[in-house]
Amino acid sequence: MIKAIRGMRDILPPDTARWQWVESVAREVFDLYGYKEIRLPLLERTELFARSIGADTDIVAKEMYTFPDRKGDSLTLRPEATASVLRAVLENRLDKGAGVKKFYTLGPMFRYERPQKGRFRQFYQINCEAYGVETPELDVEVILLLMHILKRLLPGELRLLVNSLGCPGCQVKFKAAMGLFLINREGLCEDCQRRRTTNPLRVLDCKSAHCQGILQKAPVIRDYLCPDCAVHFTRVLELLDRFNVAYEVQPKLVRGLDYYTRTAFEVAAGGLGAQDAVAGGGRYNGLARELGGPDLPAIGFAIGQDRLLEVLPQDFGQENRTRVFVAALGEPARERAFTVVQELRRKNLAAEMDFEGRSLKAQMSLADRLNAAYVVILGDKELAAGQAQVRPMRNFASQAGDAVNQAAMQGQRLEVEQEKVRFEDLADYLSKKIGSKEMS
Ligand SMILES: [Zn+2]
Ligand SMILES: [Zn+2]
Repeated sequence: MIKAIRGMRDILPPDTARWQWVESVAREVFDLYGYKEIRLPLLERTELFARSIGADTDIVAKEMYTFPDRKGDSLTLRPEATASVLRAVLENRLDKGAGVKKFYTLGPMFRYERPQKGRFRQFYQINCEAYGVETPELDVEVILLLMHILKRLLPGELRLLVNSLGCPGCQVKFKAAMGLFLINREGLCEDCQRRRTTNPLRVLDCKSAHCQGILQKAPVIRDYLCPDCAVHFTRVLELLDRFNVAYEVQPKLVRGLDYYTRTAFEVAAGGLGAQDAVAGGGRYNGLARELGGPDLPAIGFAIGQDRLLEVLPQDFGQENRTRVFVAALGEPARERAFTVVQELRRKNLAAEMDFEGRSLKAQMSLADRLNAAYVVILGDKELAAGQAQVRPMRNFASQAGDAVNQAAMQGQRLEVEQEKVRFEDLADYLSKKIGSKEMS
């Protein structure tokens, strides 16, 4: 048997219902804040990521799925969405005109990382990007939007970590200070020895415990912010206070990508280690220019959907649609059942039947497995009378009244009341039963 590639997995029902639920909540909140969806190719020119993410990052240096196509052009499966979204925005001139341009996108990303629990080589993100405005108000609005989505989805505590990475001017000064600080440190890992000269900022997100130990006394970028960047950061924090958003300033938060400027943030959720942010993002004012475009202030975030689903309580987003099972005995009844099922579906009732001529008992247990709330029973007698029997299922006894419910709790055999309903009234009868319950 051929198996899925290591680090890539199938997302299967009933889990997919939870994924859909997360996505629908995100879409709803994006809409509240005026964001529009864009859908992008998964493959881009390698150059796009090498230039935007930075050659010294782990992503570009070690983790990209890069290969030549049949003409020899170097292509890469996107390791993140920000560069692709910006490429699409610039290419399609979506940056033109007044106001903030707001986009979101959902989908898979690819990184050749060591697979471990909750970490996959094909993983999923919910991405948000906003362009055209440089004010700290937009930074805060984007953070509020992120917190809004996460609070709708996660009942537990969320920790918002924020930092400012300054402008390129601030970063030059800070990198020089980091370079000096790192000069005589013993035992930096191989990567960090190289980064010490090429890009000392990247040392901050080294995963080696030894490097992290050395960094305890490293300079912090906040001390190197120019007056404009300092004012911007202070304003962001003030506004977060105004909206009662709890945050922690985390001076070592640099995110694993080169393009961030000024505000950077991450959100950690209860149940995951502090290292495992469920979402993160920041400003990237210089990226459009880096890609050959105009000056275009930008900010965005990504929610790690795989990790989010890991911390999502199991009973969240479970499918709970009420279903009807049509059980038929004998060939003529089965003929009729096939029509009934279609009629119910036309009235927006989820309906199923058995195609394999099983016994009534087997059909009832199939109905049970499908979590049906009602079973419609058709046999020769029912066909002759023009009426079907409708029986509420044991699992749904609570819907059939208190007496039945009590019997269920005491584990007694249920005497559920079964009603005779004329064929032409079936859809209306069931709609009313199910509708009134789903409203309550
Ligand atoms: Zn600055
Ligand atoms: Zn290191």
